[in-house]
Amino acid sequence: MATVIKNGTIYNSGRLFKADLLIERGKIVAIGQDLTAAKTIDASGKLVTPGLIDVHVHYRDPGQTYKEDILTGSKAAAHGGFTTVGAMPNVIPVPNTPDLIEQMVAENKAKGIVHILQYGPVTNDEVTDEIPDYAALKKAGAFALSNDGHGVQSAQTMYLAMKKAKEQDLIIAAHAQDDSLFNHGVINEGKKATELDLAPISELAETTQIARDLLLAEKTGVHYHICHVSTKRSLDMVSLAKAQGINVTCEASPHHLLLSEDNITKDDPYYKMNPPLRSEENRQALVQALADGTVDLIATDHAPHAQKEKNGSFSTAAFGITGSETAFSMLYTRLVRTNIISLEKLLSLMTDQAAEKFALKHCGYLEIGEPADIAIFDLDQEFAFSDQDYQSKSTNTPFTGEKVYGQTVMTLVDGQVVYQRGE
Ligand SMILES: [Zn+2]
Repeated sequence: MATVIKNGTIYNSGRLFKADLLIERGKIVAIGQDLTAAKTIDASGKLVTPGLIDVHVHYRDPGQTYKEDILTGSKAAAHGGFTTVGAMPNVIPVPNTPDLIEQMVAENKAKGIVHILQYGPVTNDEVTDEIPDYAALKKAGAFALSNDGHGVQSAQTMYLAMKKAKEQDLIIAAHAQDDSLFNHGVINEGKKATELDLAPISELAETTQIARDLLLAEKTGVHYHICHVSTKRSLDMVSLAKAQGINVTCEASPHHLLLSEDNITKDDPYYKMNPPLRSEENRQALVQALADGTVDLIATDHAPHAQKEKNGSFSTAAFGITGSETAFSMLYTRLVRTNIISLEKLLSLMTDQAAEKFALKHCGYLEIGEPADIAIFDLDQEFAFSDQDYQSKSTNTPFTGEKVYGQTVMTLVDGQVVYQRGE
């Protein structure tokens, strides 16, 4: 049955305009005025965008499905308006053989309600110096490589990994962290670490590894993507590297864009992330970098954890917060409604830019003949995040209770409704 999304404000490829959108057999077949079909979705006063893309999520499946699984993770994504996600390989076991990647790809497809792309690891088990057979992983369905959660400690290992990744035309998405400088820290090195007497994480743990990796990326020509950049110094280096023609991209997470260590008023692990929340100066530099193009895309680092793992103190709690269900509304409310960035810019960073930078096909745009992966948002009605509304198994986010705008009304994948508000 054909469906028409009527009277919405459509975002596509940097532009906002009023139009109807016609869907047939899971594909977009027309965008224009006065379209009709057997079924109508009224989008009057609503925003209609390509389904959002998030290249950085953790679904814990297999291995830690008490935190999240492929179904609940993808339901959380759909609730947030995301239709394509990249799943990190820090599951148990780490999918470092073609068989394991094939299994992950099959499970993602069978259980996921959005499109789930699968990362392979840069090194076996993410912490060794053994490099898996990238050609085989790619053939089995890995779309990119990452050791997220861990930095690659050996420069020689990273150099070899980059050479091999370049040969296979695979992106390395790096969690930049030098463990010797990280030194078992739990909070940003600064006033809060001192105030709360917690083990500090130096910015150098991130910046020195980025400096090293940019030189290795220059030498190897690999596409080096930096996950969750969090310091002004990192951005300066990325900007310089781009000007020098080094093939580098980077992402910013909603929490690093919206929170700084100033938001930490007590020893509350809901503010414990890795990289940690940095100084307000760093946060502002990150927001500025959205506008000037140094940051290429926004990715959530959706990191679900059970309640007991996020209770207690920074010193013992797990790193990370959930992100899929709060990202768009938080960013829209705090950055767009306050005129810091335009709505077009925000959407570009979450749709077309993400697709372009990761060379993803069939997503990020609303185009005739392409899959009807679409999100519809209500920009005018205020609402508050509530634990009861989360589709994720986990609720570890400091944004719960926050009053925001930009609620997801509906999400469609291949023309099928995968999330609908109130249902
Ligand atoms: Zn990470």
